Amino acid sequence: MSLEMNSSMGMPGREVLHPALQAAHNQGDGHSMHAPVLVLNASYEPINVCAARRAIVLVLKGVAMAEEENGHYLHAARFAVRVPSVIRLLEYRRIPHQSRALSRKNILLRDRNSCQYCGTILPAGELTLDHVVPRSRGGTSSWENLVTCCHTCNRRKGNQLPGEAKMKLMREPRAFNLHTSRHIMRLMGHSDAKWRKYLFY
Ligand SMILES: [Zn+2]
Repeated sequence: MSLEMNSSMGMPGREVLHPALQAAHNQGDGHSMHAPVLVLNASYEPINVCAARRAIVLVLKGVAMAEEENGHYLHAARFAVRVPSVIRLLEYRRIPHQSRALSRKNILLRDRNSCQYCGTILPAGELTLDHVVPRSRGGTSSWENLVTCCHTCNRRKGNQLPGEAKMKLMREPRAFNLHTSRHIMRLMGHSDAKWRKYLFY
């Protein structure tokens, strides 16, 4: 999700000195400030996930409004601000066509750290990338030809096509797109009931 919501989105040229905003910046280590917040476009389409601290800043700057709160408060000097769990941008933002960089990290993220042949979920350090069509046979390094793979399956497959090695991909590898991102948001949404109505449709 490449949506960037930098401070210039707010009120350019006018630095907000809202005390709660200051508190949001200062309470960087409070764990509730790191709680994930679902970001909706003005159209209610889920587009991103950010940290609570960022969400509060966006709300206080008038860029977004809180749609759901998580029951916690951010305590500033003389008042408290409710910590949101879902915010919605007030102005519709066009989301550029997803063009996530092709990287090992993003392939692992897309495949959710699971070997695409045997389904085992492993830490990143114990996984490798497999060229479905081996490079020696003209396979490219692309979203559609790279999958997450455990070392055992990687050795077994060697320089063969999956069919030749009698191995089967768990799913067709695709570019990381908004659909994939939404899938990840759905997975995260399981831990926050307030996200569900925006994610499960
Ligand atoms: Zn495997």
